[in-house]
Amino acid sequence: MIKLERNTLLPSRNAALERIARVQPSDYARTRNHLEGAVTGLSPYVTHGLVTLPEVLRGVLAREALPVQHKLVFELGWREFFRHAWLQSGDGIFQSLHTAPQAETAYDTVLPGDIREGRTGVPVIDEAVRTLYATGTLHNHARMWLASYVVHLRRVHWRAGADWLVAHLFDGDLGSNHLSWQWVAGTGSHKPYLFNAENVARFAPAAWHSPGTVVDQSYEQLDQIARGTRKAKAQVLTDRQSFPRPQGVIEPALQAAPPNGLGVLSFEGDNPAALAAAEERLRGREVWLVHPWALRAPPPDLSASAVVIGLYLREHHAAWPWPEARWRWVDTAMAAVTGERWLVEAPGLQRLLASASRVRSVDDPHITRWLHPLAQLDAAPALFPRVDRPCSSFSQWWTRATRGLSDAGALL
Ligand SMILES: Cc1cc2nc3c(=O)[nH]c(=O)nc-3n(C[C@H](O)[C@H](O)[C@H](O)COP(=O)(O)OP(=O)(O)OC[C@H]3O[C@@H](n4cnc5c(N)ncnc54)[C@H](O)[C@@H]3O)c2cc1C
Repeated sequence: MIKLERNTLLPSRNAALERIARVQPSDYARTRNHLEGAVTGLSPYVTHGLVTLPEVLRGVLAREALPVQHKLVFELGWREFFRHAWLQSGDGIFQSLHTAPQAETAYDTVLPGDIREGRTGVPVIDEAVRTLYATGTLHNHARMWLASYVVHLRRVHWRAGADWLVAHLFDGDLGSNHLSWQWVAGTGSHKPYLFNAENVARFAPAAWHSPGTVVDQSYEQLDQIARGTRKAKAQVLTDRQSFPRPQGVIEPALQAAPPNGLGVLSFEGDNPAALAAAEERLRGREVWLVHPWALRAPPPDLSASAVVIGLYLREHHAAWPWPEARWRWVDTAMAAVTGERWLVEAPGLQRLLASASRVRSVDDPHITRWLHPLAQLDAAPALFPRVDRPCSSFSQWWTRATRGLSDAGALL
């Protein structure tokens, strides 16, 4: 079992490789739905590109052959499917892909304070929020419960929940996160994802159990609530009406820029001297840009005189700020690749790079729109064969991506 306390999520490639070396595929398949099950804890490393999906699978297969249909390979597939869906839909992933169980206007657009502060009185939700803020991560099952509660029992629009959650996850990835919320909401799948207290009791430790609360209902009742044909009962059901609400937790503040003291050079538009000096340094040189979604060493074919620069694009971080802890995590990993890290706006970056002989980086949909005109982008390594036709469901994508394959090694 791999515990996910923050201090075990060391921001280094070695830490990721050690995790890969400890993966036990059969334990994973048997216990992955349990909050204390043998999940890999690899997602922050994968999201930030310290390791790639092919590296994960290669590391696991080095110890044990697996069929393509193994649960672990299947879950790696979910990540690649979400990437596929994001590339197909672009910014369309930020809107409901199809109609929700209720009219869009039936859902509130603001996430209520008692959820944000983990004081709903429903232990499974409050524990999830506490864990999220304390560790920067959350088990997949807990994410599903949290999202389902927000959307179907509190009738809050999935987008409000998705924007909030992605900010606090160390593995926050707009494709996996927003499309997972749509899957739970029923706007990216064909039915709403529902859970009840019995399900929590089966998969979570005792502190999360929520008998007598609003989640303690039959699936039939929950389905009617989700579809708006039955009113959601009071937050806490009759026998728990006097249940004291917990005090709650403070939501970590979000920052659009790295904290001071990390050594990231900030290029403001009003600092022409710094811009001119950096521009001069890059004149005629090859440049490799390291960014938060590809925190790996540059490729071996980079020229010896090349300059390696770590890049934080202001436009992206203004739209999607992070808590301080995630900034520190990412920047520690980036600093291991290059000592020179910049926070800059795309127009300033364009000016800085104009004198370079060649600029290269790795593509990633979080920042393609800004990098694409400025740099030659290598495709991020994919694990599954490319599926060009748009797929409306995971199973459709999976069938196409694994057609004719039986051994997972064939993917590599
Ligand atoms: C509401 C919601 C929001 C989510 N937001 C994110 C997010 O922002 N970033 C993110 O990486 N994942 C997200 N997920 C997917 C999933 O919860 C995490 O990838 C998983 O919990 C990470 O833990 P792990 O590395 O121990 O996963 P493991 O179960 O050990 O899986 C191994 C790897 O497979 C991939 N993977 C596994 N399950 C999924 C899945 N359901 N979807 C996509 N990839 C998967 C991940 O890269 C993961 O590291 C979200 C799921 C839900 C329901």
